[in-house]
Amino acid sequence: MRLIFLGAPGTGKGTQASVLAEKYHIPQISTGDILRKAVADGTELGVKAKTIMESGGLVSDDIIIGLIDQRLAQDDCKAGYILDGFPRTIKQAEDLDEMLATSGIDAVIYFDVAEGEIVKRLTSRRTCTRCGYNHNMIYDPPVAGDRCAKCGAPVIQRDDDKEQTVRNRLAVYAEKTAPLIEYYKRQRKLYTVDGAQEVEKVRQDIIDLYEKLSV
Ligand code: AMP
Repeated sequence: MRLIFLGAPGTGKGTQASVLAEKYHIPQISTGDILRKAVADGTELGVKAKTIMESGGLVSDDIIIGLIDQRLAQDDCKAGYILDGFPRTIKQAEDLDEMLATSGIDAVIYFDVAEGEIVKRLTSRRTCTRCGYNHNMIYDPPVAGDRCAKCGAPVIQRDDDKEQTVRNRLAVYAEKTAPLIEYYKRQRKLYTVDGAQEVEKVRQDIIDLYEKLSV
């Protein structure tokens, strides 16, 4: 199944995508993760993306489309995948439609969460510097103050999770990405999940939906 997880930053897309990817043995493709790796590796792409990401802006459509084009051509994508954080603009969605031609995307799962809740979640997020696991200072805190509960490495607050950047990211989301809700509604591919529920409940809703769509 070819899925898109759509929603503002901090709505739980990444967390749920990794659970579903593991359960159904399909890759989770996160453009944010690909870009963060490029920044950490100091590649040409990483150098270009770094300041844009730190300010909460969007990396250019051409760069992102190029990344996705390469990634979807890999063998592990044959049985399906979850796109997490892509597309983020109408142009990206149109290019994706063109890339996939007749096969297309099967479904778009939209994570619906109110803005106030998102700000609270993102600014309390702490990310492991080794395994990337996201903790939450309120309901899933790191151990001993600043150690990853999964692997023991130090956790940090991502620069783009600081409050001013979070506000910028949400403004960018509202302007550039939210129009995709209508775009996929028109294609009759949009399914909405209440992302404000407990993580477990959101997970179950998505699994139920996946099973329903698979038959
Ligand atoms: P994320 O982890 O998905 O929130 O992505 C972190 C940052 O990477 C975003 O704030 C953007 O600067 C950049 N980014 C990730 N995915 C995209 C995309 N599809 N289009 C443009 N920029 C992106």
